[in-house]
Amino acid sequence: MKITGVECHFVDRYLLVEVHTDAGISGLGESGAWGFLESSAAAVEKFGRYLVDKDPLHIEHHWQYMYRFSHFRGSAIMGAISALDIALWDIAGKHFGVPVHHLLGGPVRDRARAYHHVFGSTREELLAGIKSARAAGFTAVGHLTPFLDEPRDRPFAVHTGVRLIEEAAEAVRLYREAVGSEVDLCVEIHRRLNPAEAIQLGRAIEPYRPFFYEDPVTPDNFDEMAYVASKISIPIATGERMTSLWEFQMLLARGAVQYVRPDVCLVGGISGAKKIAALAEAHHVGVVPHNPLSPVSTAACLQIAACIPNFALQEYPGEWSPPRSLLMSPPIGHDGNGYLMIPSDPGIGVTLNRDALEMLPEVKREVVTRLRTDGSVMDQ
Ligand SMILES: [Mg+2]
Repeated sequence: MKITGVECHFVDRYLLVEVHTDAGISGLGESGAWGFLESSAAAVEKFGRYLVDKDPLHIEHHWQYMYRFSHFRGSAIMGAISALDIALWDIAGKHFGVPVHHLLGGPVRDRARAYHHVFGSTREELLAGIKSARAAGFTAVGHLTPFLDEPRDRPFAVHTGVRLIEEAAEAVRLYREAVGSEVDLCVEIHRRLNPAEAIQLGRAIEPYRPFFYEDPVTPDNFDEMAYVASKISIPIATGERMTSLWEFQMLLARGAVQYVRPDVCLVGGISGAKKIAALAEAHHVGVVPHNPLSPVSTAACLQIAACIPNFALQEYPGEWSPPRSLLMSPPIGHDGNGYLMIPSDPGIGVTLNRDALEMLPEVKREVVTRLRTDGSVMDQ
């Protein structure tokens, strides 16, 4: 079997990648470099020229060849390698007639507990989102801000430092009060605080027992994340912007994280995520695969969840409008009790509905970031 070509599809806000072979098998992958998908697609096309005429089953060799060529790395490149790696695993699964996780040691579970996204530009919307996720059977919610999910073009107003912390802590108290102990709360800071603020808020919400406290500070400095972790008693989750095994090694070696958040579409695909999970396992750290993208990403995440012992929780963004499930068949199932079913079809378990490509045209992400009321840039 030989690779005959590589194809990029810009669909909705996603970059999907297909790898075609002369055996009539195609594999599907996705890039997680969502801020720079045009750059990632250019890297996919360049790697695609290398892959043509190669054996698609030599996955690790191709991964090493692409990663170690020229030593330029970063998100756009790693998003490309990830998309191609997922597609090659998809081809391998289809070739051998088994789900990918059967090639990675076999299943250790048949479903994956998930946290459902909650959004809201008002406190009432956030509380309603938590309750509706619970009503749908989910036992964990995430993307759960203690602030508000306001539009990026609206300035972020901080009246005083003390109100910032007090109001955020009060929000988490209300979330806990709304669901008691029936729902785990994954509190998401989106890199918005500095270390001193992150420690104050982390301590203030300890009584409400969040499942984790996600990205309290920017991921640029592993020592700062470790410093915050050393000062609070709730678990930190981080890693969604990291692109390699070696970054996760530096994070784990510092005791800076209790739940790693590898993005299968950014850390080198299924190959990269499996290695990061093993590294985390050696530190007794859980894995919560990052997954804000298309159902291709969800399917690839579930292949990892199926075969690693230290899987903790799966991010699940739910449905969007228009429904992203139009993109794939069969749809990824939910058991009604908070678990996503592991796809059982060969490969990653979903195939592209080509008819949906026109129904979900490309939505470009422009460079828009949040400002404070004084016009300065904030992290988000
Ligand atoms: Mg996040």
